[in-house]
Amino acid sequence: MVNTARGTLAVTMQPGPAELDAGGRSTREGPEMRLKVDAYRCIGAGRCVWVAPVVFEQDEDGIVVLLDATPPADLAGEVAEAVRMCPVEAIELNGVSDAE
Ligand code: SF4
Repeated sequence: MVNTARGTLAVTMQPGPAELDAGGRSTREGPEMRLKVDAYRCIGAGRCVWVAPVVFEQDEDGIVVLLDATPPADLAGEVAEAVRMCPVEAIELNGVSDAE
């Protein structure tokens, strides 16, 4: 678990060494999704965690923690829904903070 506190920069986790090939590229299949979260903007509503609990978590203050910055393609629906449902547009997917 990665702990963040309000006021810290967003946490972005990259694939671990076991998920990268010799050239440093992700071995996951499908279109790559790149997520960022803005802990300054997050109000702790928890919608992202409710929709995609393997990608998002909340710290002890309720602020979003990004568990996987490059989730696999089979989570695309949940990730897009989390981006759309965030009331403060704190989640950015491929450079866009609102999927709609
Ligand atoms: S849905 Fe948005 S405001 Fe709510 S915890 Fe997730 S990032 Fe924070």
